[in-house]
Formats: sequence, C-alpha cells, structure tokens
Amino acid sequence: MGKRMQAWELDAPEGLTLRERDVPKPGCSEVLVRIDAVAICATDLDVIANGPPALINGKLPFGQNFTPGHEYMGTIVGLGPEVDEYAVGERVAVEIHAGCGQCKRCRGGMYTSCLNYGRNYPGHDKGHRANGFTTNGGFAQYAINHINTLVRVPQGMSDAEAALAVTAGTSMYGFTEMGGLVAGESVAIIGPGPIGLLAAAVAKALGADPVILIGTRENRLQIGAKLGADSLLNARVTDPVEAVLAATGGKGVDYVMECAGTEQSINQAIHMCSRGGKICLAAFPHGLASIDLARAVMNNIYMYGIRGEGKSAVSRAMALMKARRFDATLIHTHSFGLEDLPEALRHARERIDGAIKVILTPNSNPNP
Ligand SMILES: [Zn+2]
Ligand SMILES: [Zn+2]
Repeated sequence: MGKRMQAWELDAPEGLTLRERDVPKPGCSEVLVRIDAVAICATDLDVIANGPPALINGKLPFGQNFTPGHEYMGTIVGLGPEVDEYAVGERVAVEIHAGCGQCKRCRGGMYTSCLNYGRNYPGHDKGHRANGFTTNGGFAQYAINHINTLVRVPQGMSDAEAALAVTAGTSMYGFTEMGGLVAGESVAIIGPGPIGLLAAAVAKALGADPVILIGTRENRLQIGAKLGADSLLNARVTDPVEAVLAATGGKGVDYVMECAGTEQSINQAIHMCSRGGKICLAAFPHGLASIDLARAVMNNIYMYGIRGEGKSAVSRAMALMKARRFDATLIHTHSFGLEDLPEALRHARERIDGAIKVILTPNSNPNP
C-alpha cells in the first residue's frame, strides 16, 4: 500500500476535483478501510449541488478538501492503536454515522440525530463523525471508520451487494426501530427509488402482509415485485389512495413508507394510512409542503422522519441479506471506476439508461 491516494474533493457547488493526498491514519477505535465499492445516493447529489446536509468546520462543505460519498464497503487495511475488534483483511460494510457517542441521542442509539452534528473542529470538537457529511467519505481510495460503524460482510457476498447494506439498513430502521413493525402488518411504500425498493424487500422479509409498492416507472415497479412486493400500483394509471383502501377493506395500511417527498405523495400517505397507523417520512422534501394534518391528527396517525440508519440497523439488514431473504443487487444498475465519478453522478441524477444504484469501484484501477 502506498502512502498517497486518489480522492475527489468538493471545491464548489458541482465542482469536484480528483486529487492526490496522503492516506489518512486511523486513530483510537478507528480502522483504515480500502474502499472496494461506493454507491451513489440522492443525498450525495444534494451535497455536491448545494452543500447540506454536509457540514465542515461549521460551514458549507466547499473548498475544504472534503470528500463526499457515504454508502461504501471495503477491506480493512490498517488498525488504530489498541484496535483488536477487527483484523487487517476483513471485509466490512459501514454505517454512515458514528455520531459523537456522548450526547443523549447517541447514547440512545439515535446517532443519525446526534445533537453535536458537525461539531468536530477546533473549538467545537465533540468528535462527531458522519462519513461523507462531516468527515471524509468514500469517493476516494481509502477512508477512516470508527469501529462502531463496521458490519462484517458475509463470505461470498459481492462488494456491490455489501455496499447496498446501508440502504437496506435505512429502510430497516424506519420499519423496525422507529416504527415497530411486526409480521402480518400491512405496508404501502410510495416511491420505488433505492430506499423504497429495499423497503419493499425488508418489509416482506420481516413478514409484512401485504406489501404494496406505488410508483410511476414500470421498470422500477417490476424490480419491486422481484424484491418481494405483493402488489404494484402505477400511480399514472390508478389512484393509489383508492387502490390501497380497496385492497384493505377501506381501512388503509398499518404503515406507509413515504420515499417520494412531494406534497402530493405525503398527502397520499396520510390518506392511505389506517387510523392509528404510522407514516415513515424517508425522503427529503425540497421546500414546504401543504399537508392534510387534520386527517393525521383526527386519526391518531404517527408520523416520523428518518435520516439514514440507526441502532445498528445495518447489521440487522445484513443478516437478512446473508440469509438470502432478498437480492439487493437487483437495484444495482451501473458500475464505474473512481475517475469516472462525474459520469457516474450524471447517470444517477438524470437516471440515464434506467439508472437506480450507480456504484463506483475506487480501487479497480491499479493506479496509482
Ligand atoms: Zn445515502
Ligand atoms: Zn451525539
């Protein structure tokens, strides 16, 4: 292993540059991960275009040698002092957020909601880590990870599949830790993007019945069927609220996972949720949304947001994947090398050629 590496740095909005810099050194409770696969997420597109939710030195992340990219896996190639929980050579998937480890939320396992988010710089150093958001991420050959964020990759699982464990873990956290889903409950998912598609897979693997997937792109709905959705609703053809009510005897579903983030889709979620049901808001809406809050209030509907994984949900999602309960690679559509990041981002942003999950393999090129 050389001491230098290639890493993309975010100089300005939409301004990424591939540079050479030193391979970072792991500190206490940290390991150095050689990144074998990193998936592009819609949040990466937001960070690269606008900055938030990335936060570096208390400021927008531009011009600070910051490397985005948060959904990655790799091989441990270096250990910090006293680390004996992992060994060099082990393959690991990673959770995004280590948090600060000391605030009330982190202590409760909600490290995605760390109260010290972004506070990891001189004068405000609470040791917060969220790779690709407040610390350097995976659009590089190597990254540092806290041992709490590591999940072992089962033997025989491909790099690409392992990189998708964090997406599945986000869906899992929404249903189980935040929602309390148990077998036999009914689920509707609006928006067959990566989180929505793997939400269908995870819900089915957890015994939800039925799992109804709602979208507008037929090819994505068909992938949802392969992942476990019991029924598919094309919102261009059918009114999804009427169809969900018809499928549930007029009652609505126990859970709605809202992965589209539009005013219309959030209102649909409220209207297809049963009395006393739960709505997980898993997409980041752009701007304000006018919603039928009265219906939610009068029907005891519980609404909660999630931003990523939590309570070690990725390790539980990985257990389902290890047991072959669903094939996450069905959402992997394109692969690129590290140097092709701009083209990979364009595929993800413009959904070129049916792109769903675009994955980079930062060490597939033997240089440098
Ligand atoms: Zn993501
Ligand atoms: Zn914290």
